[in-house]
Amino acid sequence: MLNKKSVTDLAVAGKKVLVRCDFNVPMKDGAITNDARIEGALPTIQYLIENGAQVILMSHLGRPKGEAKPEFTLAPVAVRLGEFLKKDVLFADDAEVVGENAKTMVAGMKDGDVLLLQNTRYRKEETKNGEEFAKELASLADLYVNDAFGTAHRAHASNVGVSSLLPSALGFLVKKEIDVMGKTMEAPERPFVAILGGAKVSDKIGVIENLLDKVDTLIIGGGMAYTFFVAKGWSVGNSLLEVEKVELAKSLLEKAEAKGVKLLLPVDNVIATGFSNEAEFKTVASNEIPDGWEGLDIGAASIKLFEAEIANAKTVVWNGPMGVFEMSNFARGTFAVAEALTKTDALTIIGGGDSAAAVIQSGYADKMSHISTGGGASLELFEGKVLPGIDAINEK
Ligand code: AMP
Repeated sequence: MLNKKSVTDLAVAGKKVLVRCDFNVPMKDGAITNDARIEGALPTIQYLIENGAQVILMSHLGRPKGEAKPEFTLAPVAVRLGEFLKKDVLFADDAEVVGENAKTMVAGMKDGDVLLLQNTRYRKEETKNGEEFAKELASLADLYVNDAFGTAHRAHASNVGVSSLLPSALGFLVKKEIDVMGKTMEAPERPFVAILGGAKVSDKIGVIENLLDKVDTLIIGGGMAYTFFVAKGWSVGNSLLEVEKVELAKSLLEKAEAKGVKLLLPVDNVIATGFSNEAEFKTVASNEIPDGWEGLDIGAASIKLFEAEIANAKTVVWNGPMGVFEMSNFARGTFAVAEALTKTDALTIIGGGDSAAAVIQSGYADKMSHISTGGGASLELFEGKVLPGIDAINEK
């Protein structure tokens, strides 16, 4: 188990503390459409304010690709954050992030002040973990806290780079993600059921392989299931298929059997005449998909089968939708899985991304044990990988 320093292990009073947050919020026409990520960062920020630190925040927003593009400014985040904290949040609007203006503003900070730097991805060096940029960021502060789980699987200047230049610790949000998901992967209460969905097998090969060593049951739904159907010798019509992964799917099915892992695929599917909510659709058994049709959701019998498995579980992790849940005619399987998770007394972990969006959309978010703030990062944890942003933090 990781034994990384937490923000509570640092002596922060009177110190300048640089905090990497995940303020990569969804925006429309310059307005924030969902502020969950800002809210998620509050416990660490509030702790630092209450303990007399000078709090310097940084984050990326979108993909400005190394240029100071105004549509990716963090200015609206500073305003919203100020409303949450009920205090002014200073905003250093420097195109080069650590410019003369930012340096002067930071130098003038008092204990309890909060300042937000401009979008770290205004600098090309950010995503390349450029040493110069990391040094500039580190030069602003005495201590560093990483509280951005969403980028923890990336080695960037604002997470990995600065970690080696300042005494470092994890913030409360990252700590919780690691505690819940890390402990679950190490010592799950059984039966341990993993549910994987989404479009591509190729994105989840490492996850499937790692989970086969850990879970009692692996449920595979969504577009990725059809490559497994072909591995079993069934036709899939126009359904999503990764031909070059069929052999691998075969070997994963064999591996599951050899390890005594129950691998469940959909037994029926909602198929349609095209990739559209207006297309004609019907439900057929998994080995009866006709030519010209494509599978866009799991069917009612599959839902029942998966529900029974979930009801029996003590731990469930879920990543990836069961169908094209963005279209109402093909959303039932995904929402049924979300609902099934509200009815079990198991520890339920939603691995970010589309499954988290589906759970939030269905109104069941409060009923889950843990919804991860990082889709890619949680997948890499399920894959058994070490996340560079966390690995770089000082040990206790
Ligand atoms: P991923 O990013 O791999 O988790 O994939 C998520 C996407 O997979 C969502 O946008 C879904 O609409 C899509 N998806 C799920 N099931 C299917 C399916 N049967 N056919 C096509 N796309 C699907």
